[in-house]
Amino acid sequence: MATYKDRLSRYIHQLFAQENGALKRARRESPERGLPPINVSAEEGRFLQFLARASGGRKALEIGTLGGYSGIWIARGLLPEGRMITLEVDPLHAQVARDHFAAAGVAEKVQVLVGNAHDLLRGLSGEAPFDFVFIDAEKVGYQIYYDWAMTYLKAGGILAAHNAFRGGRVVDESADEESTRAIREFNRRVAGDERVISTIFPAGDGTLIAVKQA
Ligand code: SAH
Ligand code: MG
Repeated sequence: MATYKDRLSRYIHQLFAQENGALKRARRESPERGLPPINVSAEEGRFLQFLARASGGRKALEIGTLGGYSGIWIARGLLPEGRMITLEVDPLHAQVARDHFAAAGVAEKVQVLVGNAHDLLRGLSGEAPFDFVFIDAEKVGYQIYYDWAMTYLKAGGILAAHNAFRGGRVVDESADEESTRAIREFNRRVAGDERVISTIFPAGDGTLIAVKQA
C-alpha cells in the first residue's frame, strides 16, 4: 500500500518532474550495466535542477557521478553557457555517465573527471568560484567536501548534499554504523555553521541544502 508520503511524492513527480527519454534511460540502464540503483529520485533531480539555476547557473560541481542521472538534471538547470564538472572514482560508472550525458544532449556542458574526489579537488581550485556544489559520494567524506565547497563557492552559492536521512537511520537511535554517524555529525555541523543558511529538503532520502552568505 502506498503511504501518504509516496502519494505526495508521486504528485510532485507527475506535476513537476516528468522524465524525458534520456532520463528514463539513465535510470533504467545504469543497473543493467552493473551500477547500483542509488541515483536520486525524479523529484530530487528536479530540485537539483532548480537549485542549479537559482544559484546562478554558470558553474556547477558534482561529487559522485554514478551513471549521470542527477548530473543530467543539474546540467539541464544551467544556463546555455553553463558548465558542470562531475567527479567519479569508478571508471565504469564514469563511462556509463558519459554515454548518458551524450544521450541527454548535455555532453558539451559536462566534464567527467575520473579519480578519487579528494585528489581531484586539489586541482580544481582554479575553476572557482562555483555557483553550485552537489555532494553525493562516500558519506565519511562529506565534511571534507563541505570545507572545500565553503572555500570555493561564490557568496550566494548553494551547496546540496544527498542522503541526509540515510533511509531514516539518522533518527534511529539503534543505528550506529560509521556512515550514519558521519551524516548525523555533518548535518549537525552545517546546521550550526553561521556562514550559511541551511535546512534539509525532505523529498526522497533528504537533501541538506546550504546557501553561503558571504
Ligand atoms: N549522484 C548520483 C549517485 C551517486 S552514488 C545520482 O544521483 O545519479 C555515489 C557515487 O560516488 C558512486 O558512483 C561512487 O563510485 C562514487 N564515489 C564514492 N566515493 C568516491 C570518491 N572518494 N571519489 C569519487 N567518487 C566517489
Ligand atoms: Mg545519494
